Amino acid sequence: MKGMILEMYKINEEIDKIFNELIELSEYIYNNPELGNQEFLSSKAHIDFLTKYGFKVEEHFIGIETAFKAVYDSNKPGPTIALLDEYDALPGVGHGCGHNMIGAVGTGTGIIISKFLDEIGGKIFVIGTPAEETNGAKVDMANQGVFNDIDAVLMAHPADESYASIQSLAIEAIEFEFIGKAAHAASDPEKGINALDAVIGTFNGINALRQHIESSARIHGIITEGGVAANIVPEKAVANFYVRATTKKYLTELIEKVKNCARAGALSSGAELKISNYEKTYDNFASNKFFDKLLLENMKKYDVEQLMDNNTSLGSLDAGNVSHKCPAVHPMFSISKTPLVAHTKEFAKATLTSYAYKQMKSIIGALSQTGIDLLTNADLLKKIKSDFDNAIK
Ligand SMILES: [Zn+2]
Ligand SMILES: [Zn+2]
Repeated sequence: MKGMILEMYKINEEIDKIFNELIELSEYIYNNPELGNQEFLSSKAHIDFLTKYGFKVEEHFIGIETAFKAVYDSNKPGPTIALLDEYDALPGVGHGCGHNMIGAVGTGTGIIISKFLDEIGGKIFVIGTPAEETNGAKVDMANQGVFNDIDAVLMAHPADESYASIQSLAIEAIEFEFIGKAAHAASDPEKGINALDAVIGTFNGINALRQHIESSARIHGIITEGGVAANIVPEKAVANFYVRATTKKYLTELIEKVKNCARAGALSSGAELKISNYEKTYDNFASNKFFDKLLLENMKKYDVEQLMDNNTSLGSLDAGNVSHKCPAVHPMFSISKTPLVAHTKEFAKATLTSYAYKQMKSIIGALSQTGIDLLTNADLLKKIKSDFDNAIK
């Protein structure tokens, strides 16, 4: 490849050729919000788009109906770079997390890099990863070795500020089901075992525990079943919790304490307790300082606005599991100059603004440049890989 300025010019020229179609793709996904694992229209739209631009697509990837793997192979030796698409929506607020843009950015970046691939060698994957908000497909993909032979993974998420590196918490979704015994609540209360009392005991225990946990950890839950009528002693009660921590190690420790709160609730009420996971466990995101630095430089080069140093938001991502299998980046790009709250209709609407599109173009440029840098600079890739090895060991 030639010098940086020519490359930047070439990349921007390729983005301009498909940018209106990428806006249409993002708006189509926005207008057809589909919940996790039901993203039939959304995954098909990406598959059609990638097929049109010369990718070979494997549908129903790893047996998940709305997952796919699209490949562009130069048939010349070189690294393998993967872009990850998301396209699941949220109940009630549609694309309140902006995953309509994540898909457009991943698919767009994959296509842009593919335009240069015959010249520079290597392989590009664009992988469609359903259900990030609930039962993240990336967890199964990571467990099944999908990322083991990939040299680097890139994706980007919309937000109200921009960051090259992110922090995301490890998370476990834990369900406590208590089984008691029904009885007339007034005439035979002594014959009943109150499962709801066990749930309330669990909440009280966890509320006390909260004072003694690391400040970055989070425990939050709801009661999904709490009895059927006020004159029947609740026979069954169920509570769902999310427990989050900055490391998997602390999460494991904390989960045991949360379980003990439920065990105490069961013991004091006499109810039986069943513990299960109602969604998949996500790892914390393992960031890579060389990869983040390269990306940050390219975000500046391509004029990603509202670029901040430190990301302090504490969510959880299924991309965390990917980051423990191969070097990965998950930057945020701002789509609004005023503060936005994720998982709201306002956030969804912000994905349709001209500022969001301007930023989408910049982040596609930055990710494409980063991918091309890795494909053409073996030393850089080596550094990133050794940083990954050290961090994961
Ligand atoms: Zn979300
Ligand atoms: Zn999201």
